[in-house]
Amino acid sequence: CTPIGGWWNQVMLSQRMNVITDEGILTGVIGSKPPHALSPEERKKPVEIKNMFIDIGVADKEEAEKAGVKIGDQITPHMEFTEMANKNYLLAKAWDNRMGCVVAVDVLQNLEGEDLNVNVVSGATVQEEVGLRGAKTSANKVKPDLAISVDVGIAWDTPGMKPENGKGKLGDGPLVVLMDASNIGHVGFRRHIQKVAEENGIPFQFQAVPGGGTDSGGFHVANEGVPSVNIGVPLRYMHSNVSILHKEDVNNAVKLITEIVKSLDDDTVENIIW
Ligand SMILES: [Zn+2]
Repeated sequence: CTPIGGWWNQVMLSQRMNVITDEGILTGVIGSKPPHALSPEERKKPVEIKNMFIDIGVADKEEAEKAGVKIGDQITPHMEFTEMANKNYLLAKAWDNRMGCVVAVDVLQNLEGEDLNVNVVSGATVQEEVGLRGAKTSANKVKPDLAISVDVGIAWDTPGMKPENGKGKLGDGPLVVLMDASNIGHVGFRRHIQKVAEENGIPFQFQAVPGGGTDSGGFHVANEGVPSVNIGVPLRYMHSNVSILHKEDVNNAVKLITEIVKSLDDDTVENIIW
């Protein structure tokens, strides 16, 4: 298998997967050796992705081909959406970045019928995980004056994640990203976002991380440069089958972005940019 995007070998073994063939979806599992068969050295080492395989439950290659498997078929993790013990905590695969699509749609619904002083374009980009590709093409198409990307950020509130390394606690509000490896949030725009949040009593958390990136990394270098900030929600166990977010963070991200859009007019945009 060839992984697309950032996968870590330790979260992959024994996971249930969907193999998407032309004829339908097959269930597969990433095979793992039973501990009885591991040498003491093997037990200490993570298995490399290039040595992993997906078992769809057939006897041989011929049966696999008969089942419809072809080279190039897409394979995705399988995980049911689940409400956790506290119903605000939601488990699913790929909140990164289905959450962004939810927020974008909810913001548009909130803005329905509003008298806005700016044009709003909302969309879902492709191939963010492999190089912010859709961000570049969409920004070239729209030619925005300002851009907000909506993406998940890192939760630092679980064992082993040291909170002194970053802010991001589930339930404490959406993340406004000061910087990551792809973008330094536009300072004027970020100040405006903070003001809007405070005026409307919307909780938020600033986050700065040395790694990772969002579509803001593609937006801000498009055309002649687009002032961009990423707004997201903290997410536990990102880039694994079992990511968890907090429903209220999503709701507050929707509220915040709705109020930001409503706060904009030509003069305000001009002020933010300069
Ligand atoms: Zn991601």
